[in-house]
Amino acid sequence: LSKARYVIGLDLGGTNIRCGAVSRRGEILVLRRAPALAMSAAQIVTENIAQQVRIVESIARRRGGGKASAVGVAVPGPINLKTGVVLATPHIPAWRNYPLRRRLETLLQRPIKIENDANAWALGELWLGAARGFKHVVLLTLGTGVGGGVIVDGNIVHGRAGMAGELGHVTVDPEGPPCDCGSRGCLEAFASASGLRQMVLSQPGLAHARADRAFFDRKGDFSVRKLTVAAKMGNQRALAVLKLAGKHLGIAIASLSNIFDPELFVVGGGVTGALPLMKTAMEAEVRLRSIVVEAGIAPVVRASLGDNAGVIGAARAAM
Ligand SMILES: [Zn+2]
Repeated sequence: LSKARYVIGLDLGGTNIRCGAVSRRGEILVLRRAPALAMSAAQIVTENIAQQVRIVESIARRRGGGKASAVGVAVPGPINLKTGVVLATPHIPAWRNYPLRRRLETLLQRPIKIENDANAWALGELWLGAARGFKHVVLLTLGTGVGGGVIVDGNIVHGRAGMAGELGHVTVDPEGPPCDCGSRGCLEAFASASGLRQMVLSQPGLAHARADRAFFDRKGDFSVRKLTVAAKMGNQRALAVLKLAGKHLGIAIASLSNIFDPELFVVGGGVTGALPLMKTAMEAEVRLRSIVVEAGIAPVVRASLGDNAGVIGAARAAM
């Protein structure tokens, strides 16, 4: 570490915390994983976060790095960035209108930067990943749910309270399936792992879908990877579901093109492996619905930082 100043970036997931000491150039100097204790009482989850920050800082200090110059924390779910209050997050039931920033600042005795996890991921990809060098980018994480981040003129779009970029909940089918957010026909209902699962289960003839080993693993859990393999082997149901997902992803991308005219779309998360099988349907919708295609369809590329993008982005947000 020598005399290099570093920033701590912490990415809070539903299962694990990743916490790292990140140099000003973006090198991860120390990286630690710990359980998120997400089902615990509100203050226990917060104390655990503070403890991970202290541990990473003490490791960095032992290596001669001194005190972190800033701390950034990426949190799932809508957050009011002005007040530092987490409104609700599906992974941590005890946090409802929870003043996370104030509590962490009390525990760690310094200013804390809080950022939405998808926005932090987008910042990481912008700084050092697939979006590096671009100024107008729309980023989508297709995981269990769908998250997003929007970069305009090199800056992340936060909106009034920091809740902009919830791209998983843009409507792509007004009469579509219900979504956890209370709406229906959200992008998340089609282009996420849980959306794909629901589409598989609602396919005609799949009433006993758990018996269809093609899409479910040994434990009976739905597997995007198995769905993708089945589609590649020509399984018509798998192909139909991925076509439907691609179509609705294309509808979203066309609208996002019309609003932002980005140079690039970056797609990450566990569903990206299925992207080649969704591509034809996706591109057909983009051509049909986007009026900015005259300038050329913006490329859709894969994210490149992997699992550490959140740590890097949280650190970047704090710099
Ligand atoms: Zn929704």
